[in-house]
Amino acid sequence: MIRTENLWKKFGRFEALRGLSFDVPVGSAFALIGANGAGKTTTIKVLMNILTPSRGHATVLGVDSRRISPTELAQIGYVSENQDMPARLTVGEYLNYLRSFYRRWDKELEASILRQLRLPLDRKISDLSHGMRLKMALMCALPYRPKLLMLDEPFSGLDPLVRDEFMEGLLEQAGEMTILISSHELGEIDGVATHVAFLDEGKLLFQESMNDLTGRFREVRVTLEAEAAKPGVMPNCWMEVRTLGNLLTFVDSHYSEKDLGEQIRSRIQGVRAIDSQPMALRSIFITLARATRDSSA
Ligand code: ATP
Repeated sequence: MIRTENLWKKFGRFEALRGLSFDVPVGSAFALIGANGAGKTTTIKVLMNILTPSRGHATVLGVDSRRISPTELAQIGYVSENQDMPARLTVGEYLNYLRSFYRRWDKELEASILRQLRLPLDRKISDLSHGMRLKMALMCALPYRPKLLMLDEPFSGLDPLVRDEFMEGLLEQAGEMTILISSHELGEIDGVATHVAFLDEGKLLFQESMNDLTGRFREVRVTLEAEAAKPGVMPNCWMEVRTLGNLLTFVDSHYSEKDLGEQIRSRIQGVRAIDSQPMALRSIFITLARATRDSSA
């Protein structure tokens, strides 16, 4: 649905994007995670042809982002935190206005999303709260059943209840949609995203499917008969190896239940017990981000 190849964006001499390459599979909910200033909004703006890349290129729905036309835009929904909407119109007036632009606008779907998001038709957009404005932006992007929905930090400033309503509204309509969602909070995309990419200072540190990521990481604790020492030769997939008394701990980034015991016993003497536990997404990210930074330092 989206492919970027060696994408760069410079603002003057400042490099906001530095060689991004990633693929968003059709039907995925792809999360672009990164701290403030990492380049998430810039990436989405390049994909939407609001900004032109300085180098490299991106394709969206198979079309070069620089050549996106109204035909593609009619198949893309865009929701951003600071979406421009006409403040003096009411919710109902703005929806009436938008409807005429989309051949595929589904009035029944519009009514059902309106009910679900509980937006007051007669309220002026200028009088909507922050959470309601975000819901309104989502409301405007869904009734024409876009193939691709881009959500730029849709949760920022939303209280948990409104966030859940927003997500329910979204997921219920998701169907065949591919979703690109940017966020600086991992917790927000846990349970939502099928794929994840991590952006750091304009560079992509990694991208992977959520299932692969959570399946291949385990926190391993090895209890030894005597004081532990780090083994001389370790597989590359053992990360953050630490010793404490007779305990050796590490993160296995290529976990295999079948092979772990043998991998450990072939390298370490006097193993008394081995315990491996799945890791929280946040811990996986911290481990990966640290390792990638160390290796590129
Ligand atoms: P946040 O989570 O805070 O929204 P982000 O990951 O979306 O951050 P961007 O808005 O893409 O980050 O900004 C990436 C970097 O590019 C930042 O350092 C920002 O200051 C810089 N930047 C963005 N737009 C411009 C611009 N028009 N001119 C100069 N610098 C810019």
